[in-house]
Amino acid sequence: QFPFGRRLPCDIYWHGVSFHDNNIFSGQVNKFPGMMETVRKITLSRAMRTMQDLFPLEYNFYPRSWILPEELPLFVAEVQMMKDSNPSWKPTFIVKPDGGCQGDGIYLIKDPSDIRLTGSIQSRPAVVQEYICKPLLVDKLKFDIRLYVLLKSLEPLEIYIAKDGLSRFCTEPYQEPTLKNLHQVFMHLTNYSLNIHSGNFIHSASVNTGSKRTFSSILCRLSSRGADVKKLWSDIISLVIKTIIALTPELKVYYQSDIPAGKPGPTCFQILGFDILLMKNLKPMLLEVNANPSMRIEHEQELSPGVFENVPSPVDEEVKVAVIRDTLRLVDPQKKKRKDTHPEVPPKPTPTAILCCRCPSSEQALGASEEQPEPDTSPSPEAALPSLCLKQVFPKYAKQFSYLRLVDRVAALFIRFLGVKGTTKLGPTGFRTFIRNCKLSNSNFSMAAVDILYIDITRRWNSMGIDHKESGMCLQAFVEAFFCLAQKKYKSLPLHEQVASLIELCECRLAALHGKRLVWGCG
Ligand code: ADP
Repeated sequence: QFPFGRRLPCDIYWHGVSFHDNNIFSGQVNKFPGMMETVRKITLSRAMRTMQDLFPLEYNFYPRSWILPEELPLFVAEVQMMKDSNPSWKPTFIVKPDGGCQGDGIYLIKDPSDIRLTGSIQSRPAVVQEYICKPLLVDKLKFDIRLYVLLKSLEPLEIYIAKDGLSRFCTEPYQEPTLKNLHQVFMHLTNYSLNIHSGNFIHSASVNTGSKRTFSSILCRLSSRGADVKKLWSDIISLVIKTIIALTPELKVYYQSDIPAGKPGPTCFQILGFDILLMKNLKPMLLEVNANPSMRIEHEQELSPGVFENVPSPVDEEVKVAVIRDTLRLVDPQKKKRKDTHPEVPPKPTPTAILCCRCPSSEQALGASEEQPEPDTSPSPEAALPSLCLKQVFPKYAKQFSYLRLVDRVAALFIRFLGVKGTTKLGPTGFRTFIRNCKLSNSNFSMAAVDILYIDITRRWNSMGIDHKESGMCLQAFVEAFFCLAQKKYKSLPLHEQVASLIELCECRLAALHGKRLVWGCG
């Protein structure tokens, strides 16, 4: 708690819901500005779509999605087209209201005409998504995985994944969707908050059984059946890294707006909850990302009708205590200070020393951990703790994924031309300056055409926009304009090569301009 009136700054600020500034000038905050907005269903779907446009194969772990109401005609047309080209395709779709959670307002449909357009879609936009009909079943039940991911830093990008997570089970045996069973939430939706109300929900004293279990217990089972659990983990790691790569451009825009570079401010980190569904063939599919995953380690138990009590939940405790303990260990400012200034002085005990729990044993599946705390010869609180349950995956695997970070570079250009500190939208002058400085205008593409491009795209994005607070061009609109320019300039290449070429051209021209300015400055 930060008592009212306290003046001394803190090393770590642990906010409940989202980043809020409150004049924090130093230390670390456990939330990123704009994270909640960035992982909302619609924003996430948009970010994934951009990446799917650039790298369709690499991003096929996210179900095909459309945004309602604006893409309803597109949804209808695309489904019809796919049905025409493959008459045996009998799809199911899941409609999820934007900003919803715990299964709230979700329903399944067989045909686009079944979308409930009355009232709610207009006032509450939604995402409609291809329903994964063949999930992996355990004991005939559908389940999903909640994995905890620590985004430790945005620049440079640092990502950790918890070695164990939760598996949350449905409470009715699964059947592929038919018109008859579409409405059976206990069969199709794995949300704990829904299934807890089913008479079949099993609270278990063991972390390996029941309606909520450790993910490692599922892996053990799969491994004993001969499944390639190492491959599964590597697919999950790559899903997590690629998803975060899709989110970073937007996050960077929020970051520079709330914590402008060059001014005193905190750094941020955040624990995210990734919801993943395994398909029958063990391919992991991303369902959603939670900015505020529940860290509750108790559950409610009905002692007698209507009388509830909070009782400890062993499985939640096993997984979540480890995640929080290791997050604190990784961001522990004492550790850095110890290393930087008094390497020989035995460190003061930190709060992390009193938190202790057993690490689940998915070690084998993941290979030996290489992210142990740095060896410390002095007696350290680390010595009393189990090995880290958070595994560093980025920058560890950065080389494999760096080619995907194109939109990040487009966002860097966008931020460069934003001008006014604290803004997240580009004005028409900023856009013109971008075009001029990068020398993108010519006889085929006049400055009048530049203005028309700006107005067209900005108007469309603002008309469907969630954020009406500021006028101007948002990052996604700029990305669209940038893709447009790239397609125009490099006609016959695949999109990602067109975009990469234009980025290189812009970066090169800006570097040259910057060099010239420096020379003039000196002269
Ligand atoms: P919420 O935030 O409301 O929980 P989710 O996107 O997590 O929304 O969806 C709720 C549940 O619906 C998931 O836990 C999963 O069981 C099921 N679900 C969601 N999307 C799909 C999908 N594309 N295919 C199959 N099942 C899905």
